[in-house]
Amino acid sequence: MGLSMQRYEMFIDGESRKPGAGEWFPTDNPYLGTPWAEIARGTTEDVDDAVRAAHHALHSGPWAELTASARGSLLRRLGDTLAANARRLAETEVRDNGKLFTEMYGQLGYVPEWFHYYGGLADKIEGTVPPLDKKGYFAYTKKEPVGVVAVITPWNSPLLLLAWKIAPALAAGCTVVIKPSEFTSASTLELVRLLHEAGLPPGVVNVVTGSGEDVGAALVEHPLVRKITFTGSDATGRRISEAAARDFKRVSLELGGKSPNIVFADADLDAAVNGAVSGIFAATGQTCIAGSRLLVQQSVHDEVVGRLVDLARTARMGDPMDEATQVGPITTPAQYAKVLDYIDIAQREGARLALGGKAADCGGRFVEPTVFTGVSNSMRIAQEEVFGPVLAVIPFHDEAEAVTLANDSRYGLGAGVWTSDIGRAFRMADRIRSGTVWVNTYRAVSYLTPFGGFKDSGIGRENGIGAITAYLEDKSVWINTGAATGNPFVLR
Ligand code: NAD
Repeated sequence: MGLSMQRYEMFIDGESRKPGAGEWFPTDNPYLGTPWAEIARGTTEDVDDAVRAAHHALHSGPWAELTASARGSLLRRLGDTLAANARRLAETEVRDNGKLFTEMYGQLGYVPEWFHYYGGLADKIEGTVPPLDKKGYFAYTKKEPVGVVAVITPWNSPLLLLAWKIAPALAAGCTVVIKPSEFTSASTLELVRLLHEAGLPPGVVNVVTGSGEDVGAALVEHPLVRKITFTGSDATGRRISEAAARDFKRVSLELGGKSPNIVFADADLDAAVNGAVSGIFAATGQTCIAGSRLLVQQSVHDEVVGRLVDLARTARMGDPMDEATQVGPITTPAQYAKVLDYIDIAQREGARLALGGKAADCGGRFVEPTVFTGVSNSMRIAQEEVFGPVLAVIPFHDEAEAVTLANDSRYGLGAGVWTSDIGRAFRMADRIRSGTVWVNTYRAVSYLTPFGGFKDSGIGRENGIGAITAYLEDKSVWINTGAATGNPFVLR
């Protein structure tokens, strides 16, 4: 591998760290299909060093001594630093994951809000004084950091999803070890360096890089890790969950989806078609909340499909740095092969190709926006996550059937409902089993609203006030203020 190529070292205990075994691996630019940098291949010993640094910082030194208010103002300062560097971080993301600059720059402009919001929450983590039912005792409760947190992230929106985890974890007083995706580690290393330049003490946030099977698994299994927060595929989520269960570690999992985007005949069809395109072709469909099942009421089915195909056909593919580009490349070679595979599977299952259906010749790994009609909800293309620009259109007759189809999935992450009937909007929001329901919009997220999945889409919620509880343990403290010493063999 070229000696001139930029190298990214790991970040442990406040310092850059070369890989223990001296090995590096390339990270490539999905638009060009060529490597642009090398990343340190971490070892089990590197993981151990990082976790020990985090454990040490949790219990002694400047981080452990900060008051909650000081921790909060530090977080807000970190947010300001990230805001000042949003453009550079977005450029690194685009180079590494191939998503559109317009999308990544928007995300990086938004990331500081997580640090500002959870920074504000840091000194509002309060205990209680329960009104006791026993005389002669006083009890109070407090909330303590859960401990060292393993943070494992995917390649599709590396820094946004990282912020969703580390901002509340730090606000709670935890320390963390991050394992970014092996396909997109560079931006996380740049972000963590910036946090230290802005005054984060050593050991509070550490990064180890390498494969999931080696570095990721070693991190999950490390005895000093008390909590794992993961975003990625359900297959990996299951492995992590099993490993965590062996040592009773806490886990939060944000997994995949097969989200229904449901268009009723009474909807504003211009808005619905726009939302359908946004749901599946924005981010080249590489998003956990992709609206990959479009359920369309029979009476407007052909009109909606016609308009959708016309709009999607005009989507401009090309250089993700070009602000006019609308659909970028597929991030990883394996994902590219998987998307093309599912296009074959859908055709073999008897779905009708209404648009696209093949690789596009625009440089690296491109797939045309693809629409299948005549899909039945039992087909694999309707049940399995593709994570690419492939839409399955499924007709329905009435509201009851729409609910049945929407919920006939092992996933439950997001759902869209397009209707002008307010009563129907509320009924659908009640009956759909998913963590988010969007009515007459799609793909809206905020640091203020809980995000996560029902069913196989995950465990726990990120964002909003409640997310901080995932990083806290409750403790009850009892004080005898005068109760008599009683029979030692019965419960007091
Ligand atoms: P992935 O599961 O392959 O990898 C995610 C992370 O886990 C990577 O850092 C990887 O190195 C690590 N990993 C892999 N095996 C591991 C193991 N045995 N132990 C510990 N860590 C391990 O997922 P991906 O391909 O990077 O991302 C795409 C998937 O993520 C999609 O399925 C998508 O639906 C999901 N996703 C979900 C959300 C959400 O919020 N629900 C958001 C984005 C992506």
